[in-house]
Amino acid sequence: MSLEKSIEEFKHNSGVCPFAKLINNLNDEDKKALLKALDNKVPDVTLASALRKEGWRIAEISIAQHRKGICRCPNKK
Ligand SMILES: [Zn+2]
Repeated sequence: MSLEKSIEEFKHNSGVCPFAKLINNLNDEDKKALLKALDNKVPDVTLASALRKEGWRIAEISIAQHRKGICRCPNKK
């Protein structure tokens, strides 16, 4: 990744939780799939397992906290 992209990424992701950061870094197709899974109330453990299989490092607890709105994201639903 280029420095310019990294700087943009950190600007964009500063202050958000690991799960939100992950969502921001997904490609459009995966982001769509993940948001759909969130809408469909797919369990945290299922999402965490699927994401880890795809190579993302994410803890189930990070997903749970984000969904409950108790993560450190500044803009909560
Ligand atoms: Zn969050």
